[in-house]
Amino acid sequence: MPTALVTGGAGFLGSHLCETLLSRGNRVICVDNLETGSLANIAHLRDPDFVHINVDITSPFFVDEPVDSVYHLASPASPIDYLRLPLHTLKVGSYGTHNAIGLAKHKRARFLIASTSEVYGDPKEHPQTESYWGHVNPIGPRGVYDEAKRYAEALTMAYHRQQGVDTAIVRIFNTYGPRMRPHDGRAIPTFLRQAILEQPITIFGDGSQTRSFCFVEDLIDGIIRLSESGEHNPVNIGNPDEFTLLEAAQIVQRITGTKAELIFEPLPTDDPQVRRPDITRARELLGWEPKVALEDGLRRTIEESGDGRLTGLL
Ligand code: NAD
Repeated sequence: MPTALVTGGAGFLGSHLCETLLSRGNRVICVDNLETGSLANIAHLRDPDFVHINVDITSPFFVDEPVDSVYHLASPASPIDYLRLPLHTLKVGSYGTHNAIGLAKHKRARFLIASTSEVYGDPKEHPQTESYWGHVNPIGPRGVYDEAKRYAEALTMAYHRQQGVDTAIVRIFNTYGPRMRPHDGRAIPTFLRQAILEQPITIFGDGSQTRSFCFVEDLIDGIIRLSESGEHNPVNIGNPDEFTLLEAAQIVQRITGTKAELIFEPLPTDDPQVRRPDITRARELLGWEPKVALEDGLRRTIEESGDGRLTGLL
C-alpha cells in the first residue's frame, strides 16, 4: 500500500485530498498544526490507515516510516488568514517548504507543492498561462502570501535541478466546496453565508473584477493526476469559466432564493482585476479538465455543508 503524506491535511483542500487518497487505497499521514484547519475536517476519517500528526512544519519534522508521495499544502490561504499571520505565512513558505521537501528527498518520495494563481499577481496577461511570470507587488499587504509562494516554487525547482528531487508544482486557482470556513473572507463562502442568513451580500468595488471558481472535487482530481505524472514544471489547475463577482453573487442569490440585497464596499489593496486559468497544459499532460459547473458546485456545497439546514455554512 503506498503512503502519502499531506501537510495541511486538516484544512479545506487537504481534508478532501486525504479523503480521496484514502479511498484510492493509500495510507495517509496528515501533518497539520491546526493553525487554520480543524479536527472537525478530518473527524470522519476513522480508518486505521489514516494518522494525524500535530506539528508545526516550520520546524524540522521526521516520520519514521516509508513515504511515497508528499503533498505540501500547509499554508494560510485566505486573505484574512495571511493578513493576520504575515510572518508565519512567510515562514511556512520558506522554512516549511524546506522541511517538507527535505523529508521528500530523504524518503525519495514524489513531492508536490500547492502553489497558487496569486503568483501571477494582478496579471497583465489574460487568461494566465504557466509561462507568464506575473505582476506582483512584493511590499503590499498581499506580498507575504504571493512572494512566499513564488519563493516556494523557486525552492522546489532548485531541489529538483540541484538535488534531483522528483517535484511537481500545481498552481491552484480559486476553489470552493464543503468545509470552507464561512468567515474565511473568500467570496463564495461569504456570499453563501450572507445569502442564507439574509444579510446584505458584500461585493468589493463595483463587482466587475473576474474570478474563475473550481469545485473542490475537480481540483483534487487534478492534483492527484499531477502528482502521479512525471511532470516537473508548473501546471495550472482551475476552472476556466470566468464570472464577474457581481455575476457570482447574483447566481448565489438565485440558487438560495434569498431576499438579501447586494451592497458595494471599497476594493482591498492590490485586488486582482482578472483571474482565469489557461488549462491547456493540464488538458494535454494530464487529460484533466473540470466537470462541475458553478451552479451545480454551489448547490452541492450547500447540500453537503450540513444537515439540510445549512448549519455547516453559518
Ligand atoms: P486552509 O487554511 O483550509 O488549509 C491550510 C492548512 O495548513 C490548515 O489546516 C492549517 O492548519 C495548516 N497549516 C498552516 N500552517 C501550518 C504549519 N506551520 N504547520 C502545519 N500545518 C499548518 O487552506 P486551503 O484553502 O485548504 O489551502 C491549502 C493550500 O492550497 C494552501 O497552500 C493554499 O495556498 C493553496 N491554495 C488554495 C486555494 C483555494 O482556493 N482554496 C487557491 C490557491 C492555492
